[in-house]
Parts: sequence; structure tokens; C-alpha cells
Amino acid sequence: MHTRVFRFAPSPNGYLHLGHAYSVLLNDDMAREAGGRLLLRIEDIDAWRCRPEYEAGIYQDLGWLGLSWQEPVRRQSEHFDDYRAALAKLDAQGLIYPSFESRSELSALVAERDRLGRWPRDPDGVPLYPGRARKLSPAERERRRRAGEPFALRLAIDAAVARVGVLTWTETGMGPQGQTGLVTAAPQMWGDVVLARKEAPTSYHLAVVIDDAFQGVSDVVRGQDLFWATSIHRLLQALLGLPEPIYHHHRLILDSGGRKLSKSTQATGLRELRAAGATAADIRRMVGLGR
Ligand code: GLU
Repeated sequence: MHTRVFRFAPSPNGYLHLGHAYSVLLNDDMAREAGGRLLLRIEDIDAWRCRPEYEAGIYQDLGWLGLSWQEPVRRQSEHFDDYRAALAKLDAQGLIYPSFESRSELSALVAERDRLGRWPRDPDGVPLYPGRARKLSPAERERRRRAGEPFALRLAIDAAVARVGVLTWTETGMGPQGQTGLVTAAPQMWGDVVLARKEAPTSYHLAVVIDDAFQGVSDVVRGQDLFWATSIHRLLQALLGLPEPIYHHHRLILDSGGRKLSKSTQATGLRELRAAGATAADIRRMVGLGR
């Protein structure tokens, strides 16, 4: 039996809050219980929003919580070649294509579709891709790329789903509607999802799937807000021939108004709580993992 591998994968685009504390402590508890390992991964593909001081803050906060993790830590920004290689595999299967619409062109197209009946939104509330770039001829694509136009590389979702058929995953936690056990993936709800852009060789979805496979992650324990993203993750795993982890989506820590915590709310920030005299044991109790 292989050692089970868990991971905590924060983005250094802000300081950690109680929601992160719950997630990492739960990962650590589950890894210990399984006699497994906990890895830390820094999800820093968004160069605009990620900052070194936030990354330093992550190490500081996790150390303060009493956690340890395996070194070296995988930083996504150091592995762009791995994501490019995965894109090339999908391209060789004819499953990705560039689209060239600007944000405002996309909004105008969605408004037009909405007038005919509400155009579908993805689980994050973002309208599905309304454009027709998949129909552009290879010559036209080449011409526009050569001209230096910005583009998004999209997954041709219907063709991708047709290739792999029905997919499932094992959920040991719970989805937002109580889903648990064997869950059927529904990747079409994301439409022709973006996997990379001209200036960014990967999206969150592609990077997370590649990294979980590279790091030998057997157990993905993360917030319920990512439950439906698992549908796309399972699809990419199947297309790229990657192993399938077990998933455990956990409840979210909400603020007193019942909203998801944000990185800018100081009241629930770990550094603020520490400065106010809280201990690691207090944090455990605050997130409902007290012993
Ligand atoms: N980096 C993501 C976040 O900070 C988490 C990714 C994951 O756990 O799959 O929300």
C-alpha cells in the first residue's frame, strides 16, 4: 500500500485567514490519521496578483500553526514547461483552440444571447463562452496569432467529453447539495473553459491537475467552493492519462454575515488574530477542530 499524499495549495495573493487554517489543519489531521504526508504547493501562476510578502506570510502562518511540510515546496511559476507540454498533448488530440474576442466583445455577445433566453452560466456564475472561434480556419488562426493579437486557449468541451465518455469521482466529503460517494462529473457545465492565455501558459484548472499528478497526490482535501471544478479536473486527468485522486470537499468557514471569507477581511486574518494574542490552539477551536 502506497503512502497517501495530501496537499495544501494556497495562492499567495493575500494573507491567510481562518478558512485557510481550517483547510490546512483538516489536511494535516487527515494525513496523520492515514499515516500519510502533507505537501505544500504555492499556486502563483497569476503574476499580477501574487506577491513575495504573501508567500512569506504563508510560511510564517503555517509554522505558527505548528505545521510542517515536505521541502522543496512546489511553486507553480517554476513549472511553466510542464503546463506547456500538457497543452501540446491536448493540441495533438485536436481538443484546444484559440479564441480572440476581447472582454467587451464577449459581454456584448452574452447580452445578445441573453435577449433570446438566458445564456447559461458556469458554476462560478461566469457566462459560458458564447463565441465561434472554434470554427476559424487554421490559416485565420495563424494569421491572428502572428499579428500578435491576445488570445485564450480553450478546451473544445463537447469533443473532449465525447473522447472520454462518462466520468465519476469518489467524494469522501460533501458537495454543496450534499453530494457524496460516487459523483458523476458534469464538465459541460463549464463550456469551452480557458486553459491558458497568450501571456499565461496555464489556468488554475490545468496547473492543479498536472501538479497533483506530478506530486503523487492521492487525496485532494479542499473547500466546497471547488466542488464543481472537480468535473473539469477529472476530464483533464482522463484526457492526459493522469491518475485519479480521491476528493474530499469540506465546509467553508463563513463570516458572521454568512459570507465566504475574503483575503481582505482583517477580522479573520491569521496574522491579525496572532497579533491580538490568539494561540494556535485558539485557531483550532475557532474553526471547529478543537481537541
Ligand atoms: N489555489 C487554490 C486556492 O487558493 C486552491 C486549489 C485547490 O485546492 O485545488 O483557492
